[in-house]
Amino acid sequence: MKLLSVLFILLSLSACANTPTRDEGIIHPGEVRVLQFDLKDGNPTLFCRGLPVRFSVTDKKAKAIIIESYFSDLSHYICEQKAGSKILETYIYKVVGKDYQAEILKVDMKTIKLSPKDQKRSDEEQLVLNKIYSSSANDFLFTKPFQEPMTSFKTSIYGKKRIYNNHKHGQHLGVDYRAAVGEKVPAANRGKVMLARDLFYTGWTVLIDHGLEVFTNYGHLSKTLVSEGQIVERGDIIGLSGNTGRTSGPHLHWGVKIQGQYLDGVSLVEETKKAWPDDK
Ligand SMILES: [Zn+2]
Repeated sequence: MKLLSVLFILLSLSACANTPTRDEGIIHPGEVRVLQFDLKDGNPTLFCRGLPVRFSVTDKKAKAIIIESYFSDLSHYICEQKAGSKILETYIYKVVGKDYQAEILKVDMKTIKLSPKDQKRSDEEQLVLNKIYSSSANDFLFTKPFQEPMTSFKTSIYGKKRIYNNHKHGQHLGVDYRAAVGEKVPAANRGKVMLARDLFYTGWTVLIDHGLEVFTNYGHLSKTLVSEGQIVERGDIIGLSGNTGRTSGPHLHWGVKIQGQYLDGVSLVEETKKAWPDDK
């Protein structure tokens, strides 16, 4: 295995030998980066780890959101700007592991196992969500950095492992903000409201598409104040916080899903600040 990965790095480096290569620094599992590059001639495409990644272009300057899954195997992360099979420029990220904390919760196992009726409802809602997540706008719908929806204390940060009665039971792949029932919840950025309805797990929920497979969602709301299909600006109030759905008390759950992965919203805020400066 070790020999294979050494071979892989050597092969990749020799492939890069004749093309400009940029060191893009470090990325941790669950984080976001914005890759900015000058678009070369020949209608190039971008591939990361061999898969196509869509990007936005203004005056031949391209921006792509690069993500590393929470479940990363920490393998080398190489992106290539290509024209056909020809590599025009290479960008290398070093993936470094991150220790996410664990929280131990004592719960009645009956509340984890769903009744057939609840299971059916949750399965049906998942299909609706999957459909939304597979159809995103063809360009970024925003031109400013993302903002956290609340500034209050974070009662649970992204990535915390959840251990129920000594059994690891997933992880919290969102950010929870302390909020009483009825506090205003603003949109983190400009986008299109794809869903505003009551879901089994997250209660009254608003889901926004920001384009190129960048989505944010807002859960456990007491009320939604937008309708599906509506375009919202950054900071527009989309609902009021609450404790609907499966929750132990009122708070705001903020989720960020990009290219099919739940990522740390705080990282999205920090990285988009650099790439889309607010004062421009
Ligand atoms: Zn949460």
